[in-house]
Amino acid sequence: MTVPFEQAPPTLGNQYEDDRVLRSYLARVCPAEMLREIEPSLFEMGRLAGGELYQLQLADRLNEPRLTQWDAWGNRVDRIELTPMWRLAERIAVEHGVIATAYERKHGALSRVHQSALAYLFTPSTDIYSCPLAMTDGAARTLLVSGNQELIERAVPHLITREPSEFWTAGQWMTEITGGSDVGLSETIAKAGAGSREFRLYGRKWFTSAISSQIALTLARPEGNPPGGRGLALFYLETRDEQGRPRNIEINRLKDKLGTRKVPTAELTLNGTPAQLVRGTTDGVRNIAPLLNITRLWNGISAVSLMRRGVALAFDYARKRVAFGSTLAEKALHMDTLLGLRAEAEAAFHLAFYVAELTGRSEAGEIDEDDAWLLRLLTPVMKLTTAKQAVSVASEVLESFGGAGYVEDTGLPVLLRDSQVLPIWEGTTNVLALDGLRALGEAESLEPLRSFATRLFETLHNPQFIDLSQIALAAIERAESWLKEARARSRSHVEAGARRFALTLGRAIELALLVRHAQWSQEHEQDQQSTASAQRFARAGVDLI
Ligand SMILES: Cc1cc2nc3c(=O)[nH]c(=O)nc-3n(C[C@H](O)[C@H](O)[C@H](O)COP(=O)(O)OP(=O)(O)OC[C@H]3O[C@@H](n4cnc5c(N)ncnc54)[C@H](O)[C@@H]3O)c2cc1C
Repeated sequence: MTVPFEQAPPTLGNQYEDDRVLRSYLARVCPAEMLREIEPSLFEMGRLAGGELYQLQLADRLNEPRLTQWDAWGNRVDRIELTPMWRLAERIAVEHGVIATAYERKHGALSRVHQSALAYLFTPSTDIYSCPLAMTDGAARTLLVSGNQELIERAVPHLITREPSEFWTAGQWMTEITGGSDVGLSETIAKAGAGSREFRLYGRKWFTSAISSQIALTLARPEGNPPGGRGLALFYLETRDEQGRPRNIEINRLKDKLGTRKVPTAELTLNGTPAQLVRGTTDGVRNIAPLLNITRLWNGISAVSLMRRGVALAFDYARKRVAFGSTLAEKALHMDTLLGLRAEAEAAFHLAFYVAELTGRSEAGEIDEDDAWLLRLLTPVMKLTTAKQAVSVASEVLESFGGAGYVEDTGLPVLLRDSQVLPIWEGTTNVLALDGLRALGEAESLEPLRSFATRLFETLHNPQFIDLSQIALAAIERAESWLKEARARSRSHVEAGARRFALTLGRAIELALLVRHAQWSQEHEQDQQSTASAQRFARAGVDLI
């Protein structure tokens, strides 16, 4: 009798236990006592992510959110039905403090790192439920820094709670048909109510994700305000009344999207939706910036978490799949490919988590001027760099499964489709590259960035690491001299090169952070794997100028 040839699917273990990169990083940045305190939460999230959540995600593959616009009696209801996975994901996120951890601040500034680690473990097994969490986290932060005590008391406790029945999510309604990047063109009008502080909003919002949210932060132009971004104000609104009916909001349809298909993303018409000013009657674009900084951090954490998931599945499969007489794991070329992906993911991880560290220090009021500058620069640079890496890693991950990577019920193609949104929402690559330039202002030199990299390298003594650090420094210096030359030529020269400039800075800082960690890991863990990743990453190219 011939034994039938069967393909074994890839499997996942505890996603915290198996993650060398995350564990080694936390061991370096967290004091031992903090690590002892937070590890149970990470083991538990790793267990869920590699176990029941992952299985449920595979089983829930074909479910999608549904919009019911009318009830049987002709009433407009605009009800959204979420997928079973999303309903479970919400409960788990709330109970495990995937937002709350950052606000309870049990471990000071490092609480953002703890929260980011939870989000990183949670995200790849929960069908992009990270989207409403990111916006909810961003809304909490924006309200807190707004100083609007009434809204802080009304909404923030719901956004950061650990009690599922109390939990609210927040939407972020910026993009209109006139533009998602150029939001200054927004056409939504805010009319002040006679004798009341309440406004009514009239207009169309063109992309509104997680439309099941209880509240939203949005931009609208108070009547009489000038055109452009400055004339917009930031508003808070509650989407439904006590009976669950939309407050003068019509959900016209859900978008039919390439990926993130579990995220209900809607087109809306606001027909006099009641809303309150968050802060001032102008400068809405500036006032919503804290929200964008948080969602961009989440974008980076999601990018590295999706890369990590793809790479974990690909390595597992390589140990099982046999071709030409041995497993793929025994093929030097296949392993060379996978190790290249791992190096990209590992370098990206260190940049995303470094931005989490800086964000935590900024929130705790423990950041100095240089690091505040670094955070303003690295937030867009990190978002755009990691998003691009995620798309290219996901594409290679699919190829590493051969035909199976292209077949939907393996659960693999969704990795690529979901990754493809990362460079688009929360600011496209080009728009963020320009943001990065704005963060530099008129500064002629990248001195603070060079001195940051130099500080990282202060303790390097092994020539192997010193060589790698020189590659990172040379790329920063090259970017600096390009900027000088381009500025001397014209504004359009600077803009035309902004993407290459930002990606070069992103990759250079990724290499610098990875080299610093590699030395630590060699010394404290006797582990050479980060060193090997740093060498591969440097060979893959850092300077894209
Ligand atoms: C799945 C999904 C969910 C979304 N959810 C939300 C949401 O919840 N809330 C929300 O507000 N928005 C949301 N968006 C919208 C998203 O933020 C916008 O699509 C994005 O910001 C780009 O805006 P746009 O679509 O108008 O493209 P455009 O701004 O028209 O950009 C088109 C192209 O032009 C480039 N470009 C634009 N300006 C410049 C410039 N000055 N220099 C060089 N290149 C430039 C861009 O990089 C891009 O490649 C979502 C989008 C998607 C895909």
